Formats: sequence, structure tokens, C-alpha cells
Amino acid sequence: MLSKFRPTWMVESIFRVSPQFLLDNNINCVLTDLDNTLVPWNSKRGSEELRAWLHETKKYGIEVIVVSNNSHRRIKAAVQDYELPFVPRAMKPLTIGIRHALKQFNLNRKKTVMIGDQLLTDVLAANSCHVKSILVKPLVNNDAWNTKFNRWLEKIIWNKLIKKYPNLHWE
Ligand SMILES: [Mg+2]
Repeated sequence: MLSKFRPTWMVESIFRVSPQFLLDNNINCVLTDLDNTLVPWNSKRGSEELRAWLHETKKYGIEVIVVSNNSHRRIKAAVQDYELPFVPRAMKPLTIGIRHALKQFNLNRKKTVMIGDQLLTDVLAANSCHVKSILVKPLVNNDAWNTKFNRWLEKIIWNKLIKKYPNLHWE
């Protein structure tokens, strides 16, 4: 059961996930969480850092698709400047949103990675779909009310994870 929460990789921030790293691992598509992964949960817009990262990934032919539990309206407002495709109401940790993205965009799941800031939603959903995952640290240190419970549970799982997989480390 614990293995379902184990991310393939852990990187401090999505902006440190380089196109070269992805290509070296035979990945051509990034599914990414929105809140606290791409933009702070309480922010309406992305950053220059996001713009630069998207520019780089595009340059190397890597597709980026937002797969978020948030609403169509929220995601659209946050990413409209970047012309990013997205799947709203993804219902992570259920696999619905990721499966929808794989099908709609005709993706090869072996060449796809899910990036997100939560073990309990992003990583669990990715593992349940047999999609690789990258856990990142949240962009800001607080969360929306509906994430606070997850964070509490996440701490417990995290402590068990690092005991079982001492090799897990932040890149
Ligand atoms: Mg998030």
C-alpha cells in the first residue's frame, strides 16, 4: 500500500525539472497539478519563472497539460496567458483526470510524468495509473482549507515512506 505513495522522483520545484532531465528519462509529456505546483494556490496568475519554464519545455518539444482538481474557471484564469491545455475537476487521487488526459491528448503513458505537490492526490493518482511522478515542494507554505487535512495525513505517510525507502531524496 505504501508503495502507492512513492514518487518516482522528488525535485524542489517544477521549475527545476529541466527538459534535459525529462528527455534523458524518455518523457515527452508533463501532466501538472495547478495549485502550489505551477502557481500559488491563492494567486490568480503565474510568474515569470513559469513563463520561462514553459518556454524551455516547449523548445524541446515537451507537451505540458494541467490536470487539476480545481474548477474550469479557476484554471482558466490562472493559465490563460500561457495557452496551456487543461483537464479540470480531475478528482485526484482517483484516476479519472489522468486517464482522461492520456486519452484526449493521445499520450503514451510510459512517456508521461505527473508533477504535483501532494502525495495524497498527485502521486497516488499517478501511481494508480502507472504513470511516473515527480513530487515537488509546495510553492507557498500554506494551503486552501480543503488541503489542510491532506497535509496532516501526508505527514504520517511521509514518515512511513522515508523509513521504508531511505533512498528517497530531493534532487
Ligand atoms: Mg497542489
